[in-house]
Amino acid sequence: MGETKYIFVTGGVASSLGKGIISSSIGKLLQARGYNVTIQKFDPYINIDPGTLNPYEHGECYVTVDGHEADLDLGHYERFLGIQTTKANNITTGRIYKSVIDKERKGDFLGKTIQVVPHITDEIKRNVKLLGSKNKFDFVITEIGGTVGDIESFPYLESIRQLKWEMGRNALCVHLTYVPYLAAAKELKTKPTQHSVKELQSVGIQPDILVLRTEHQLSAELRKKVALFCNVDENAVVQSIDMPTIYEVPLKMQEQGLDETILKKMGMPVGEAPALIPWKKFLERRNKAKETVKIGLVGKYDLQDAYKSILESISQSATYNDRKADIQFLNSEKLTEENVEQKLKGMDGVIVCPGFGQRGIEGKFVALKYTRTHNIPTFGICLGMQCMTIEFARNVLGYEDANSREMDEKTPHNVIDIMEEQKAITNMGGTMRLGAYDCVISKDSKAFEAYKKEHIQERHRHRYEFNNDYKKEFEENGMKCVGINPESDLVEIVEIPSLKWFVGTQFHPEYSSTVLNPHPLFLSFIKAAITK
Ligand code: GLN
Repeated sequence: MGETKYIFVTGGVASSLGKGIISSSIGKLLQARGYNVTIQKFDPYINIDPGTLNPYEHGECYVTVDGHEADLDLGHYERFLGIQTTKANNITTGRIYKSVIDKERKGDFLGKTIQVVPHITDEIKRNVKLLGSKNKFDFVITEIGGTVGDIESFPYLESIRQLKWEMGRNALCVHLTYVPYLAAAKELKTKPTQHSVKELQSVGIQPDILVLRTEHQLSAELRKKVALFCNVDENAVVQSIDMPTIYEVPLKMQEQGLDETILKKMGMPVGEAPALIPWKKFLERRNKAKETVKIGLVGKYDLQDAYKSILESISQSATYNDRKADIQFLNSEKLTEENVEQKLKGMDGVIVCPGFGQRGIEGKFVALKYTRTHNIPTFGICLGMQCMTIEFARNVLGYEDANSREMDEKTPHNVIDIMEEQKAITNMGGTMRLGAYDCVISKDSKAFEAYKKEHIQERHRHRYEFNNDYKKEFEENGMKCVGINPESDLVEIVEIPSLKWFVGTQFHPEYSSTVLNPHPLFLSFIKAAITK
Protein backbone atom coordinates (compact mmCIF):
# COMPACT_ATOMS: atom_id res chain seq x y z
CA MET A 1 0.00 0.00 0.00
CA GLY A 2 1.19 3.47 -0.87
CA GLU A 3 0.58 6.66 1.02
CA THR A 4 -2.97 7.43 2.13
CA LYS A 5 -4.84 9.72 -0.26
CA TYR A 6 -7.19 12.38 1.02
CA ILE A 7 -10.32 13.54 -0.77
CA PHE A 8 -12.16 16.57 0.57
CA VAL A 9 -15.80 17.12 -0.29
CA THR A 10 -17.09 20.67 0.12
CA GLY A 11 -20.43 22.21 -0.78
CA GLY A 12 -21.52 25.53 -2.17
CA VAL A 13 -24.63 27.55 -3.12
CA ALA A 14 -27.04 25.82 -0.73
CA SER A 15 -27.14 23.19 1.96
CA SER A 16 -28.89 19.81 1.57
CA LEU A 17 -27.47 19.14 -1.89
CA GLY A 18 -26.37 15.67 -0.85
CA LYS A 19 -22.68 15.91 -0.01
CA GLY A 20 -23.11 12.79 2.10
CA ILE A 21 -24.45 10.83 -0.87
CA ILE A 22 -21.70 12.08 -3.18
CA SER A 23 -19.04 11.23 -0.57
CA SER A 24 -20.58 7.78 -0.11
CA SER A 25 -20.77 7.22 -3.86
CA ILE A 26 -17.12 8.15 -4.38
CA GLY A 27 -16.26 5.86 -1.47
CA LYS A 28 -18.31 3.04 -2.95
CA LEU A 29 -16.63 3.31 -6.36
CA LEU A 30 -13.12 3.36 -4.93
CA GLN A 31 -13.92 0.50 -2.57
CA ALA A 32 -15.26 -1.55 -5.49
CA ARG A 33 -11.82 -1.17 -7.07
CA GLY A 34 -10.31 -2.95 -4.10
CA TYR A 35 -9.18 0.04 -2.07
CA ASN A 36 -9.58 0.32 1.66
CA VAL A 37 -11.76 3.41 2.11
CA THR A 38 -13.25 5.32 5.00
CA ILE A 39 -15.31 8.50 5.14
CA GLN A 40 -15.37 11.11 7.88
CA LYS A 41 -17.61 14.10 8.48
CA PHE A 42 -16.50 17.40 9.94
CA ASP A 43 -19.38 19.45 11.31
CA PRO A 44 -18.80 23.16 11.84
CA TYR A 45 -21.14 23.54 14.83
CA ILE A 46 -20.00 24.07 18.42
CA ASN A 47 -21.84 21.13 19.98
CA ILE A 48 -19.39 18.40 21.00
CA ASP A 49 -21.58 15.88 19.17
CA PRO A 50 -25.15 15.85 17.81
CA GLY A 51 -26.36 13.76 20.78
CA THR A 52 -27.87 16.78 22.47
CA LEU A 53 -29.40 18.18 19.26
CA ASN A 54 -33.12 18.12 18.67
CA PRO A 55 -33.86 16.03 15.53
CA TYR A 56 -35.70 19.06 14.12
CA GLU A 57 -32.32 20.80 14.04
CA HIS A 58 -30.18 18.11 12.59
CA GLY A 59 -32.20 14.98 11.81
CA GLU A 60 -31.53 11.60 13.34
CA CYS A 61 -28.66 11.02 15.70
CA TYR A 62 -26.68 8.06 14.41
CA VAL A 63 -24.69 5.81 16.76
CA THR A 64 -21.40 4.10 15.93
CA VAL A 65 -20.39 0.69 17.33
CA ASP A 66 -17.92 2.36 19.68
CA GLY A 67 -20.73 4.39 21.21
CA HIS A 68 -20.34 7.76 19.55
CA GLU A 69 -23.43 9.86 18.88
CA ALA A 70 -22.86 11.01 15.33
CA ASP A 71 -24.17 12.86 12.33
CA LEU A 72 -26.66 10.96 10.18
CA ASP A 73 -24.29 11.07 7.20
CA LEU A 74 -22.27 8.34 8.92
CA GLY A 75 -25.34 6.18 8.37
CA HIS A 76 -25.05 6.76 4.62
CA TYR A 77 -21.35 5.90 4.73
CA GLU A 78 -22.08 2.60 6.47
CA ARG A 79 -25.08 1.73 4.30
CA PHE A 80 -23.23 2.38 1.03
CA LEU A 81 -19.84 0.93 1.95
CA GLY A 82 -20.83 -1.76 4.43
CA ILE A 83 -18.05 -0.50 6.73
CA GLN A 84 -18.23 0.42 10.38
CA THR A 85 -17.41 3.96 11.38
CA THR A 86 -16.18 5.13 14.79
CA LYS A 87 -15.84 8.25 16.88
CA ALA A 88 -12.91 9.34 14.70
CA ASN A 89 -15.25 9.53 11.68
CA ASN A 90 -17.22 12.48 13.02
CA ILE A 91 -15.56 15.61 14.35
CA THR A 92 -17.25 18.87 15.32
CA THR A 93 -15.87 22.34 15.89
CA GLY A 94 -16.84 21.86 19.52
CA ARG A 95 -14.55 18.84 19.82
CA ILE A 96 -11.69 20.59 18.03
CA TYR A 97 -11.88 23.59 20.36
CA LYS A 98 -12.33 21.44 23.44
CA SER A 99 -9.23 19.46 22.72
CA VAL A 100 -7.18 22.62 22.02
CA ILE A 101 -8.48 24.31 25.18
CA ASP A 102 -7.80 21.20 27.28
CA LYS A 103 -4.23 21.18 25.99
CA GLU A 104 -3.88 24.87 26.77
CA ARG A 105 -5.01 24.29 30.38
CA LYS A 106 -2.46 21.50 30.74
CA GLY A 107 0.21 23.95 29.65
CA ASP A 108 1.04 22.06 26.47
CA PHE A 109 1.51 25.22 24.44
CA LEU A 110 4.39 26.54 26.57
CA GLY A 111 3.28 30.14 26.87
CA LYS A 112 2.15 30.64 23.29
CA THR A 113 -0.94 32.65 22.31
CA ILE A 114 -3.56 30.19 21.08
CA GLN A 115 -5.02 31.18 17.71
CA VAL A 116 -7.36 29.82 15.05
CA VAL A 117 -4.35 29.60 12.73
CA PRO A 118 -2.26 27.57 13.52
CA HIS A 119 -3.70 25.90 16.65
CA ILE A 120 -7.27 25.18 15.59
CA THR A 121 -6.25 24.38 12.02
CA ASP A 122 -3.47 22.08 13.28
CA GLU A 123 -5.97 20.21 15.40
CA ILE A 124 -8.30 19.88 12.38
CA LYS A 125 -5.41 18.62 10.25
CA ARG A 126 -4.38 16.16 12.95
CA ASN A 127 -7.91 14.75 12.99
CA VAL A 128 -8.05 14.49 9.21
CA LYS A 129 -4.85 12.46 9.18
CA LEU A 130 -5.59 10.37 12.26
CA LEU A 131 -7.76 7.84 10.42
CA GLY A 132 -5.27 7.47 7.58
CA SER A 133 -2.25 6.89 9.76
CA LYS A 134 -3.99 4.73 12.35
CA ASN A 135 -5.90 2.29 10.22
CA LYS A 136 -3.93 2.24 7.03
CA PHE A 137 -6.64 3.36 4.68
CA ASP A 138 -5.86 3.89 1.01
CA PHE A 139 -8.40 6.69 0.87
CA VAL A 140 -9.83 8.94 3.55
CA ILE A 141 -12.75 10.96 2.27
CA THR A 142 -13.49 14.01 4.42
CA GLU A 143 -16.86 15.67 4.03
CA ILE A 144 -17.04 19.22 5.33
CA GLY A 145 -20.48 20.11 6.67
CA GLY A 146 -22.09 23.45 5.90
CA THR A 147 -21.60 25.64 2.85
CA VAL A 148 -18.50 27.44 1.62
CA GLY A 149 -18.72 31.05 2.74
CA ASP A 150 -20.20 30.29 6.18
CA ILE A 151 -18.25 31.90 9.00
CA GLU A 152 -18.02 28.53 10.74
CA SER A 153 -16.44 26.78 7.75
CA PHE A 154 -13.39 29.01 7.51
CA PRO A 155 -10.96 27.05 9.75
CA TYR A 156 -11.82 23.86 7.86
CA LEU A 157 -11.18 25.45 4.48
CA GLU A 158 -7.91 26.91 5.70
CA SER A 159 -6.90 23.42 6.86
CA ILE A 160 -7.77 21.95 3.46
CA ARG A 161 -5.74 24.67 1.77
CA GLN A 162 -2.73 23.79 3.88
CA LEU A 163 -3.16 20.05 3.43
CA LYS A 164 -3.47 20.39 -0.34
CA TRP A 165 -0.30 22.45 -0.34
CA GLU A 166 1.56 19.96 1.84
CA MET A 167 0.32 16.79 0.18
CA GLY A 168 0.32 17.74 -3.47
CA ARG A 169 -1.26 14.96 -5.54
CA ASN A 170 -2.23 13.01 -2.44
CA ALA A 171 -5.01 15.48 -1.67
CA LEU A 172 -7.91 16.51 -3.85
CA CYS A 173 -11.02 18.67 -3.48
CA VAL A 174 -14.42 17.77 -4.87
CA HIS A 175 -16.83 20.70 -4.72
CA LEU A 176 -20.58 20.13 -4.93
CA THR A 177 -22.75 22.99 -6.17
CA TYR A 178 -26.23 23.58 -7.52
CA VAL A 179 -27.36 24.59 -10.98
CA PRO A 180 -30.85 26.07 -10.71
CA TYR A 181 -33.38 26.05 -13.52
CA LEU A 182 -35.25 29.29 -14.13
CA ALA A 183 -38.61 28.20 -15.49
CA ALA A 184 -39.59 31.63 -16.83
CA ALA A 185 -36.36 31.94 -18.81
CA LYS A 186 -36.28 28.17 -19.53
CA GLU A 187 -32.61 28.25 -18.62
CA LEU A 188 -30.15 26.49 -16.35
CA LYS A 189 -27.95 28.95 -14.53
CA THR A 190 -24.28 28.45 -13.76
CA LYS A 191 -23.62 31.77 -12.05
CA PRO A 192 -24.16 30.47 -8.48
CA THR A 193 -21.59 27.75 -9.21
CA GLN A 194 -19.11 30.28 -10.52
CA HIS A 195 -19.57 32.41 -7.43
CA SER A 196 -19.21 29.49 -5.11
CA VAL A 197 -15.97 28.41 -6.78
CA LYS A 198 -14.68 31.98 -6.54
CA GLU A 199 -15.44 31.86 -2.85
CA LEU A 200 -13.29 28.74 -2.54
CA GLN A 201 -10.53 30.27 -4.64
CA SER A 202 -10.56 33.36 -2.45
CA VAL A 203 -9.46 31.21 0.48
CA GLY A 204 -6.79 29.60 -1.66
CA ILE A 205 -8.49 26.37 -2.70
CA GLN A 206 -8.80 25.41 -6.33
CA PRO A 207 -11.36 22.60 -6.56
CA ASP A 208 -10.16 19.70 -8.70
CA ILE A 209 -13.59 18.29 -9.49
CA LEU A 210 -17.02 19.91 -9.61
CA VAL A 211 -20.20 17.95 -9.07
CA LEU A 212 -23.22 19.92 -10.20
CA ARG A 213 -26.49 19.03 -8.58
CA THR A 214 -29.37 19.62 -10.96
CA GLU A 215 -32.96 18.71 -11.67
CA HIS A 216 -32.41 18.84 -15.45
CA GLN A 217 -29.91 17.25 -17.78
CA LEU A 218 -26.84 19.49 -18.23
CA SER A 219 -25.54 19.89 -21.78
CA ALA A 220 -21.90 19.32 -22.74
CA GLU A 221 -21.76 23.00 -23.57
CA LEU A 222 -22.85 24.06 -20.13
CA ARG A 223 -20.25 21.83 -18.53
CA LYS A 224 -17.60 23.23 -20.83
CA LYS A 225 -18.56 26.73 -19.77
CA VAL A 226 -18.36 25.83 -16.08
CA ALA A 227 -14.97 24.18 -16.65
CA LEU A 228 -13.64 27.26 -18.39
CA PHE A 229 -14.87 29.74 -15.80
CA CYS A 230 -13.78 27.66 -12.84
CA ASN A 231 -10.32 26.43 -13.91
CA VAL A 232 -11.42 22.81 -13.87
CA ASP A 233 -10.86 20.15 -16.54
CA GLU A 234 -13.87 19.47 -18.73
CA ASN A 235 -14.05 15.81 -17.76
CA ALA A 236 -13.92 16.86 -14.11
CA VAL A 237 -17.31 18.56 -14.29
CA VAL A 238 -19.85 15.94 -13.39
CA GLN A 239 -23.61 16.24 -13.04
CA SER A 240 -25.66 14.79 -10.22
CA ILE A 241 -29.23 14.71 -11.40
CA ASP A 242 -32.19 13.83 -9.12
CA MET A 243 -32.66 10.06 -8.94
CA PRO A 244 -35.59 7.96 -7.77
CA THR A 245 -33.27 6.45 -5.16
CA ILE A 246 -29.97 7.64 -3.70
CA TYR A 247 -28.56 4.16 -4.36
CA GLU A 248 -28.49 4.95 -8.11
CA VAL A 249 -26.01 7.77 -7.55
CA PRO A 250 -22.79 5.66 -7.53
CA LEU A 251 -23.75 4.23 -10.92
CA LYS A 252 -24.42 7.69 -12.34
CA MET A 253 -21.05 8.87 -11.05
CA GLN A 254 -19.35 5.84 -12.56
CA GLU A 255 -20.99 6.48 -15.95
CA GLN A 256 -19.32 9.88 -15.97
CA GLY A 257 -15.97 8.44 -14.93
CA LEU A 258 -15.78 10.29 -11.63
CA ASP A 259 -13.69 7.59 -9.96
CA GLU A 260 -11.42 7.40 -12.98
CA THR A 261 -10.87 11.15 -12.95
CA ILE A 262 -10.05 11.01 -9.24
CA LEU A 263 -7.51 8.20 -9.72
CA LYS A 264 -5.85 9.95 -12.65
CA LYS A 265 -5.59 13.22 -10.79
CA MET A 266 -4.04 11.46 -7.83
CA GLY A 267 -1.54 9.67 -10.05
CA MET A 268 -2.92 6.21 -9.47
CA PRO A 269 -3.43 3.37 -11.93
CA VAL A 270 -6.91 3.39 -13.44
CA GLY A 271 -7.48 -0.16 -14.63
CA GLU A 272 -10.90 -1.50 -15.40
CA ALA A 273 -14.12 -0.09 -14.05
CA PRO A 274 -15.60 -2.37 -11.37
CA ALA A 275 -18.77 -4.24 -12.36
CA LEU A 276 -20.62 -3.49 -9.11
CA ILE A 277 -22.69 -6.63 -9.65
CA PRO A 278 -24.32 -7.08 -6.23
CA TRP A 279 -25.15 -3.39 -6.14
CA LYS A 280 -26.77 -3.50 -9.58
CA LYS A 281 -28.68 -6.65 -8.62
CA PHE A 282 -30.07 -4.85 -5.61
CA LEU A 283 -31.23 -1.95 -7.80
CA GLU A 284 -32.73 -4.30 -10.38
CA ARG A 285 -34.69 -6.08 -7.72
CA ARG A 286 -35.81 -2.79 -6.29
CA ASN A 287 -37.01 -1.53 -9.68
CA LYS A 288 -38.74 -4.80 -10.48
CA ALA A 289 -40.85 -4.91 -7.31
CA LYS A 290 -44.44 -4.06 -8.18
CA GLU A 291 -46.49 -4.96 -5.12
CA THR A 292 -46.23 -2.74 -2.09
CA VAL A 293 -45.90 -3.35 1.61
CA LYS A 294 -47.59 -0.68 3.70
CA ILE A 295 -45.76 0.17 6.89
CA GLY A 296 -47.08 2.63 9.46
CA LEU A 297 -44.39 4.56 11.30
CA VAL A 298 -45.60 5.77 14.68
CA GLY A 299 -43.45 8.60 16.00
CA LYS A 300 -43.65 12.18 17.13
CA TYR A 301 -41.43 13.91 14.56
CA ASP A 302 -43.08 15.05 11.31
CA LEU A 303 -39.69 14.99 9.71
CA GLN A 304 -38.27 12.28 7.47
CA ASP A 305 -34.68 12.88 8.52
CA ALA A 306 -35.53 12.16 12.16
CA TYR A 307 -36.03 8.49 11.27
CA LYS A 308 -33.53 8.24 8.42
CA SER A 309 -31.98 4.87 9.31
CA ILE A 310 -35.37 3.27 10.00
CA LEU A 311 -36.72 4.46 6.64
CA GLU A 312 -33.66 3.11 4.83
CA SER A 313 -33.85 -0.21 6.70
CA ILE A 314 -37.51 -0.64 5.74
CA SER A 315 -36.90 0.16 2.11
CA GLN A 316 -33.85 -2.15 1.87
CA SER A 317 -35.74 -5.03 3.45
CA ALA A 318 -38.77 -4.39 1.26
CA THR A 319 -36.51 -4.80 -1.80
CA TYR A 320 -35.19 -8.12 -0.49
CA ASN A 321 -38.81 -9.20 -0.05
CA ASP A 322 -39.63 -8.04 -3.61
CA ARG A 323 -41.89 -5.26 -2.44
CA LYS A 324 -42.02 -1.52 -2.77
CA ALA A 325 -42.16 0.14 0.62
CA ASP A 326 -45.13 2.42 1.17
CA ILE A 327 -44.28 4.14 4.43
CA GLN A 328 -47.07 6.05 6.11
CA PHE A 329 -46.06 8.45 8.82
CA LEU A 330 -48.49 8.42 11.75
CA ASN A 331 -47.97 11.25 14.20
CA SER A 332 -48.32 9.69 17.65
CA GLU A 333 -49.56 12.99 19.10
CA LYS A 334 -52.61 12.72 16.87
CA LEU A 335 -53.44 9.04 17.51
CA THR A 336 -56.44 8.44 19.78
CA GLU A 337 -58.73 5.55 20.72
CA GLU A 338 -61.27 7.15 18.40
CA ASN A 339 -59.18 7.36 15.24
CA VAL A 340 -56.71 4.49 15.67
CA GLU A 341 -58.80 1.96 13.76
CA GLN A 342 -59.19 4.25 10.77
CA LYS A 343 -55.47 5.09 10.76
CA LEU A 344 -54.00 1.62 11.31
CA LYS A 345 -56.53 -0.68 9.66
CA GLY A 346 -54.84 -0.79 6.27
CA MET A 347 -51.29 -1.28 7.54
CA ASP A 348 -49.39 -4.50 6.77
CA GLY A 349 -47.04 -3.72 9.64
CA VAL A 350 -46.38 -1.01 12.20
CA ILE A 351 -43.13 0.32 13.64
CA VAL A 352 -43.18 2.22 16.92
CA CYS A 353 -40.22 4.57 16.80
CA PRO A 354 -37.49 5.48 19.28
CA GLY A 355 -37.67 8.77 21.11
CA PHE A 356 -37.33 10.74 24.31
CA GLY A 357 -39.78 12.39 26.64
CA GLN A 358 -43.48 12.51 27.25
CA ARG A 359 -44.72 14.15 24.05
CA GLY A 360 -46.71 11.77 21.86
CA ILE A 361 -46.25 8.82 24.19
CA GLU A 362 -49.94 8.07 24.82
CA GLY A 363 -50.53 7.71 21.06
CA LYS A 364 -47.87 5.03 20.99
CA PHE A 365 -49.77 3.03 23.64
CA VAL A 366 -52.99 3.43 21.64
CA ALA A 367 -51.25 2.18 18.47
CA LEU A 368 -49.70 -0.78 20.29
CA LYS A 369 -52.94 -1.83 21.93
CA TYR A 370 -54.55 -1.83 18.51
CA THR A 371 -51.83 -3.79 16.72
CA ARG A 372 -51.51 -6.27 19.62
CA THR A 373 -55.24 -6.97 19.75
CA HIS A 374 -55.55 -7.09 15.94
CA ASN A 375 -52.45 -9.20 15.40
CA ILE A 376 -50.75 -6.72 13.06
CA PRO A 377 -46.99 -7.34 12.75
CA THR A 378 -45.36 -4.78 15.02
CA PHE A 379 -41.79 -3.74 15.63
CA GLY A 380 -40.96 -1.61 18.68
CA ILE A 381 -37.56 0.05 18.62
CA CYS A 382 -35.95 1.36 21.82
CA LEU A 383 -38.64 3.69 23.24
CA GLY A 384 -40.99 1.69 20.99
CA MET A 385 -40.00 -1.51 22.84
CA GLN A 386 -40.38 0.24 26.18
CA CYS A 387 -43.89 1.32 25.12
CA MET A 388 -44.70 -2.28 24.18
CA THR A 389 -43.94 -3.41 27.71
CA ILE A 390 -45.81 -0.50 29.31
CA GLU A 391 -48.90 -1.10 27.17
CA PHE A 392 -48.74 -4.80 28.06
CA ALA A 393 -48.38 -4.01 31.77
CA ARG A 394 -51.36 -1.65 31.64
CA ASN A 395 -53.76 -3.67 29.53
CA VAL A 396 -52.74 -7.29 30.15
CA LEU A 397 -51.14 -7.32 33.61
CA GLY A 398 -53.71 -4.78 34.81
CA TYR A 399 -51.31 -2.14 36.16
CA GLU A 400 -53.16 0.93 34.93
CA ASP A 401 -50.46 3.27 36.16
CA ALA A 402 -47.55 1.32 34.67
CA ASN A 403 -44.98 3.61 33.11
CA SER A 404 -41.34 4.38 32.52
CA ARG A 405 -39.50 6.42 35.13
CA GLU A 406 -38.67 8.77 32.28
CA MET A 407 -42.33 9.73 31.89
CA ASP A 408 -43.50 9.43 35.48
CA GLU A 409 -40.88 9.56 38.21
CA LYS A 410 -43.31 8.44 40.88
CA THR A 411 -45.06 5.58 39.13
CA PRO A 412 -45.54 2.62 41.50
CA HIS A 413 -45.28 0.25 38.50
CA ASN A 414 -42.03 1.24 36.91
CA VAL A 415 -41.79 -1.56 34.35
CA ILE A 416 -39.18 0.59 32.63
CA ASP A 417 -36.70 2.00 35.09
CA ILE A 418 -33.50 3.98 35.34
CA MET A 419 -30.32 2.02 36.05
CA GLU A 420 -28.33 2.59 39.23
CA GLU A 421 -25.28 3.91 37.35
CA GLN A 422 -27.44 6.36 35.37
CA LYS A 423 -28.90 7.98 38.50
CA ALA A 424 -25.81 9.94 39.45
CA ILE A 425 -25.30 11.37 35.98
CA THR A 426 -25.79 15.12 35.65
CA ASN A 427 -24.27 15.80 32.22
CA MET A 428 -26.67 15.03 29.38
CA GLY A 429 -24.14 14.70 26.56
CA GLY A 430 -22.66 11.28 25.76
CA THR A 431 -23.77 9.65 29.00
CA MET A 432 -26.45 7.20 27.87
CA ARG A 433 -25.89 3.48 27.36
CA LEU A 434 -24.24 3.88 23.97
CA GLY A 435 -22.75 1.66 21.32
CA ALA A 436 -22.64 -2.08 20.71
CA TYR A 437 -23.44 -4.57 23.49
CA ASP A 438 -23.70 -8.36 23.46
CA CYS A 439 -27.05 -10.08 23.48
CA VAL A 440 -27.92 -13.77 23.73
CA ILE A 441 -31.10 -14.90 21.99
CA SER A 442 -33.38 -17.76 23.10
CA LYS A 443 -33.61 -20.42 20.46
CA ASP A 444 -37.38 -20.70 20.39
CA SER A 445 -38.08 -17.13 19.33
CA LYS A 446 -38.95 -14.98 16.33
CA ALA A 447 -35.71 -13.13 16.92
CA PHE A 448 -33.70 -16.36 16.62
CA GLU A 449 -35.63 -17.30 13.48
CA ALA A 450 -34.55 -13.98 12.03
CA TYR A 451 -30.90 -13.90 13.12
CA LYS A 452 -30.34 -17.65 12.89
CA LYS A 453 -27.79 -17.33 15.67
CA GLU A 454 -27.65 -17.00 19.42
CA HIS A 455 -24.95 -14.41 19.91
CA ILE A 456 -25.40 -10.97 18.46
CA GLN A 457 -24.14 -7.44 19.09
CA GLU A 458 -26.33 -4.40 18.57
CA ARG A 459 -26.06 -0.67 19.13
CA HIS A 460 -27.78 1.13 21.97
CA ARG A 461 -28.74 4.70 22.81
CA HIS A 462 -30.91 4.99 25.90
CA ARG A 463 -30.94 5.64 29.63
CA TYR A 464 -33.85 3.47 30.76
CA GLU A 465 -34.19 -0.31 30.87
CA PHE A 466 -36.71 -3.09 31.33
CA ASN A 467 -37.23 -3.68 35.06
CA ASN A 468 -36.30 -7.30 35.76
CA ASP A 469 -38.51 -7.38 38.89
CA TYR A 470 -41.44 -7.77 36.49
CA LYS A 471 -39.83 -10.30 34.17
CA LYS A 472 -41.55 -13.38 35.58
CA GLU A 473 -44.97 -11.78 35.48
CA PHE A 474 -44.55 -10.66 31.88
CA GLU A 475 -43.41 -14.10 30.82
CA GLU A 476 -46.21 -15.91 32.62
CA ASN A 477 -48.71 -13.70 30.86
CA GLY A 478 -47.37 -14.10 27.35
CA MET A 479 -44.67 -11.51 26.73
CA LYS A 480 -41.27 -13.24 26.65
CA CYS A 481 -37.86 -11.75 27.23
CA VAL A 482 -35.98 -13.52 24.45
CA GLY A 483 -32.82 -11.44 24.21
CA ILE A 484 -30.65 -10.90 27.27
CA ASN A 485 -27.35 -9.12 27.83
CA PRO A 486 -25.11 -11.89 29.22
CA GLU A 487 -23.08 -9.55 31.46
CA SER A 488 -25.71 -7.29 32.96
CA ASP A 489 -28.76 -9.53 32.56
CA LEU A 490 -30.60 -6.58 31.00
CA VAL A 491 -33.51 -7.39 28.70
CA GLU A 492 -32.70 -6.53 25.08
CA ILE A 493 -35.54 -8.18 23.14
CA VAL A 494 -39.17 -8.89 24.06
CA GLU A 495 -41.81 -10.61 22.00
CA ILE A 496 -45.29 -12.08 22.18
CA PRO A 497 -44.92 -15.56 20.65
CA SER A 498 -48.65 -16.10 20.28
CA LEU A 499 -48.87 -13.22 17.80
CA LYS A 500 -47.74 -13.27 14.19
CA TRP A 501 -44.80 -10.90 14.71
CA PHE A 502 -44.69 -8.67 17.76
CA VAL A 503 -41.09 -7.89 18.66
CA GLY A 504 -39.47 -5.08 20.59
CA THR A 505 -35.75 -4.35 20.81
CA GLN A 506 -34.08 -2.16 23.39
CA PHE A 507 -31.30 -1.65 20.85
CA HIS A 508 -31.39 0.05 17.44
CA PRO A 509 -31.15 -2.52 14.63
CA GLU A 510 -31.68 0.24 12.05
CA TYR A 511 -28.12 1.52 12.48
CA SER A 512 -26.61 -1.65 11.07
CA SER A 513 -28.80 -2.38 8.07
CA THR A 514 -26.87 -1.85 4.83
CA VAL A 515 -27.73 -2.11 1.14
CA LEU A 516 -25.93 -5.41 0.67
CA ASN A 517 -26.57 -6.71 4.20
CA PRO A 518 -30.10 -5.81 5.21
CA HIS A 519 -30.84 -6.33 8.90
CA PRO A 520 -32.33 -9.74 9.75
CA LEU A 521 -35.02 -8.31 12.02
CA PHE A 522 -36.24 -5.86 9.38
CA LEU A 523 -36.22 -8.66 6.78
CA SER A 524 -38.26 -10.88 9.02
CA PHE A 525 -40.64 -8.08 10.03
CA ILE A 526 -41.36 -7.17 6.39
CA LYS A 527 -41.77 -10.85 5.56
CA ALA A 528 -44.37 -11.21 8.30
CA ALA A 529 -46.08 -8.04 7.09
CA ILE A 530 -46.54 -9.41 3.58
CA THR A 531 -47.68 -12.92 4.47
CA LYS A 532 -51.42 -12.79 4.68
N1 GLN B 1 -36.07 7.55 26.07
C1 GLN B 1 -35.73 6.18 26.22
C2 GLN B 1 -34.50 5.96 27.09
O1 GLN B 1 -33.74 6.86 27.31
C3 GLN B 1 -35.54 5.51 24.86
C4 GLN B 1 -34.45 6.11 24.03
C5 GLN B 1 -34.53 5.78 22.57
O2 GLN B 1 -35.60 5.44 22.06
N2 GLN B 1 -33.44 5.88 21.86
O3 GLN B 1 -34.27 4.89 27.57
